[in-house]
Amino acid sequence: MSRIIFATGNADKMKEIRMILSDMGMEILSMKEAGANPDIVEDGTTFEENARIKAQSVAKLFPDDIVLADDSGLEIDYLNGEPGIYSARYLGEDTSYEIKNQKLIERLFGVPKEQRTARFVCAIAAALPDGSTKTVRGTIEGYIGEKSAGENGFGYDPIFYVDEYGCSTAQLLPEEKNKISHRGNALRAMREELKRI
Ligand code: IMP
Repeated sequence: MSRIIFATGNADKMKEIRMILSDMGMEILSMKEAGANPDIVEDGTTFEENARIKAQSVAKLFPDDIVLADDSGLEIDYLNGEPGIYSARYLGEDTSYEIKNQKLIERLFGVPKEQRTARFVCAIAAALPDGSTKTVRGTIEGYIGEKSAGENGFGYDPIFYVDEYGCSTAQLLPEEKNKISHRGNALRAMREELKRI
């Protein structure tokens, strides 16, 4: 039986992936655990394309397994979708999120709440042993706050607020965030796709 290999080295992502895909009855490994760590150039123009590029590159090394890969980021409507697929590289890869988040708050200075809408997007691609690919997308809708808040999560979480909880996603417990997050939603959609094959 084939295994599921996820093209990430991120331990937190692997925890979430294992939790959500646990009922698949398949062995789930990170690509590192499977013995690979390839350098992949993500030069796609959409989240889906980048996820597919990653999944297909890693699938060349594991042709008998199901290889999953994700690509995610923050889209801010007032900034025409920025930082989008460049979320990790916004203001430079090595720039701290404290600075990136402060800059985004500045760029939205004076903008009313109803125009501060934003979403986290996560595309997950599966490269299957028959050579085909499947792609799903998960999102979480929210808005950019006027200040950073919260210590949990990572990246843009301190400035991304959700109405449902009335706080930033950095103020949610990991279990609470996983239930509503873009990655959680994309993983649950992919689980349904995989169950069909
Ligand atoms: P990647 O898909 O893991 O490479 O994530 C791309 C970038 O999107 C991250 O470096 C973060 O800047 C941002 N991002 C993706 N998901 C989240 C999230 O759940 N919270 C905060 N930032 C995120």
